[in-house]
Amino acid sequence: MRRPIVAANWKMHHTVGEAQRYLHRLLELVPADPPLDLVVLPSATSIQATAQSLAQTPIAWGAQSARPEPEGPFTGELSVRQVCELGASYVICGHSERRALFNEDDKLVSRMVKAALESDLVPIMCVGESLEQRRAGTDWQVGEKQLDVGLSQIEEQESARIVIAYEPVWAIGTGVAAQPEDAQQMAGRIRTWLGNRFGASGERIRIQYGGSVKPDNAQQFLELANVDGALVGGASLDPDSFWQIAQAAVR
Ligand code: PEP
Repeated sequence: MRRPIVAANWKMHHTVGEAQRYLHRLLELVPADPPLDLVVLPSATSIQATAQSLAQTPIAWGAQSARPEPEGPFTGELSVRQVCELGASYVICGHSERRALFNEDDKLVSRMVKAALESDLVPIMCVGESLEQRRAGTDWQVGEKQLDVGLSQIEEQESARIVIAYEPVWAIGTGVAAQPEDAQQMAGRIRTWLGNRFGASGERIRIQYGGSVKPDNAQQFLELANVDGALVGGASLDPDSFWQIAQAAVR
């Protein structure tokens, strides 16, 4: 049985003060031993405050992205090594906004996933097709290539720690979520791919759905057989809404 995992991707939202108030409220809502993994992914300026607020709590935190190189001339970037130093447990690899806005390709994503695992971070690797690709019927080809290249450096024995977020690009931040049947189909294909690539370990890899998940539609995704959680953007910006979604992940 895979433990559910629900993550809040704050993107470029929340000042330090707002982050602290948010986490204070979230900690009022979450019990001491929640039956799922909860992850907060703050923007860089709130990492330190998040690390402090969540120390010795059941909520983990991570980075929205991190370069695999330990250091170097990457203006504006954070490295896996730097976020580890602050106590991160997770890192998103290859979010579609980073792929589109910062030209992150599958090869870079593959290095990010590898570097994360080597530093004991859990990579949340995002895959998903654009609207054009879905209309052209190439949605699975796109996802398969992202998995083929993104996980090309991963050995079977380290694979179980990875989280895959299936996030159709057209559903992210648009308010238009995928149909549960489509999410089900893609999650099933991803599960089959993981089993073929990693054997029994593939069954242990958690798959999230992401794309306009809200409290009122979360249940229909989180009850799907191969969906073990959600990666949530907009609806995670309010702690009560995020916690409502998280509760829908517990079967
Ligand atoms: C995301 O940023 O990963 C995301 C799924 O955003 P939203 O929930 O706003 O669609």
